[in-house]
Amino acid sequence: MATEPDIATLTLADATNEAAALRDQLNQWRREYYTEDAPSVTDAEYDQRYQRLLAIEGRFPELVVPDSPTQQVGDVVSPDFTKVPHAVPMLSMGDVFSLEELGEFDARLRKTTDQDFDYNVELKIDGLSLSLVYTDGELTQASTRGNGQVGEDVTVNARQIADIPQKLSRPLTLEVRGECYMPKAAFAELNAEREAQGLDNFANPRNAAAGSLRQLDPQVTKRRQLATFIYTLMDVDQFGVTRQDEAIAFMADLGFATNPSSEVHHDVTTLADYIERYTAQRDGLSYGIDGIVLKVNDLALQQAMGNTVKVPRWEIAYKFPPEEAATVVRDIEWTVGRTGWLHQQPLWIR
Ligand code: NAD
Repeated sequence: MATEPDIATLTLADATNEAAALRDQLNQWRREYYTEDAPSVTDAEYDQRYQRLLAIEGRFPELVVPDSPTQQVGDVVSPDFTKVPHAVPMLSMGDVFSLEELGEFDARLRKTTDQDFDYNVELKIDGLSLSLVYTDGELTQASTRGNGQVGEDVTVNARQIADIPQKLSRPLTLEVRGECYMPKAAFAELNAEREAQGLDNFANPRNAAAGSLRQLDPQVTKRRQLATFIYTLMDVDQFGVTRQDEAIAFMADLGFATNPSSEVHHDVTTLADYIERYTAQRDGLSYGIDGIVLKVNDLALQQAMGNTVKVPRWEIAYKFPPEEAATVVRDIEWTVGRTGWLHQQPLWIR
């Protein structure tokens, strides 16, 4: 059985072919996931292929092209919605998969500044990004991330989500961003209902949340019982807020739903315990999480560190290992991919 070659041994010609095949495959999965809200592979499988493309592009930077998934946030904006340009782009996030990689990220970041800093550590909520704009304290616009530059107007739907304040506790004009998710209980109820009606199940709560927010009928959104955790305050200077933990407290005070699990840590070495605790509690939480997020706590330092075209340099996601259990592989089919390598394809997954 052939296995994939080590990237260090690839010739430029092999790398060019493999990168093109990976781009095609990932772009197809991205369409299914972002546009159709119906993924055909697990996130772990997507992430594994994405990391391989990233590593090939890392070794051969000349292979990076603008339409590579490594250069783009999300996917196309659905023509069913009015487009909303984001004044500040809504980005994706870099990710790591082990404590060792987390340590490497921390060491790299600390080398870029003379300033000592803490991280605000948060749970990574498994939903979709949402921007909310308030004018004089009233909700005036809600939009999805879309392609990062332009999102979809989902204001009428956001008005149907119970924990999004229509009116803030103070008459402020501001934008906040956060995650819109479907609680596990609502997800189970929705899929049971769909099954009874002979409809296809949603693959996971993230896709169910996306399909329920990106809806033409706000009454459907209402019935789907979506919820939010808000974690980003834009234009912080006008409020005298200087740290991420302070921003979260400020937003909670205004009436937003914020996640109570964030903590300030100086060293990544102390994160093993946080990760262990939430890995253990994960199943018992009423919402899905797929990892934790580390953010430089000092907001001015975040600004100074800036972003790449796709991700902020001052934050990283540590992704949990994929959840095992409930998957029964009934059979394995071997297929030869475009690059000539064999791939395993489970025929029946439940
Ligand atoms: P991401 O979901 O890995 O991380 C970025 C997002 O995390 C942010 O945009 C934000 O919405 C969210 N987030 C949750 N909690 C947060 C917090 N506390 N602070 C800040 N942000 C928080 O990145 P992405 O670009 O949205 O999606 C890429 C991921 O989507 C992939 O890694 C993969 O897991 C999945 N995906 C899967 C498929 C598939 O076919 N299965 C296809 C495409 C993408």
